[in-house]
Amino acid sequence: MQSTRARTPWQSHDWKVKTLESIIPGGGSKLAFTCRACERKFTHTTANNRAWATSGDGTPLADEVTSRWLAQSCPGRPAKGDNKDRLTFKYPSKPVQPE
Ligand SMILES: [Zn+2]
Repeated sequence: MQSTRARTPWQSHDWKVKTLESIIPGGGSKLAFTCRACERKFTHTTANNRAWATSGDGTPLADEVTSRWLAQSCPGRPAKGDNKDRLTFKYPSKPVQPE
């Protein structure tokens, strides 16, 4: 375990930042944060300082995934359960069909 004292879990990631929209309605910018180490991806809005987890194409993931990912320090490499987490969308496009 490396020491993460005085660093928030957010700061533990090695972010690559991309501007999605430089000015959004209501002010501020919308940025895409992708970690080079664990490949987790977040969308961040600067005006209200909110961030949420997204799938690879920027689709918002469930709040449960967002809070878990935000609470964890960078695992340093893609974590095992992440691919499953990336399928848990905040706004499901259709109801889950039982097999
Ligand atoms: Zn990371």
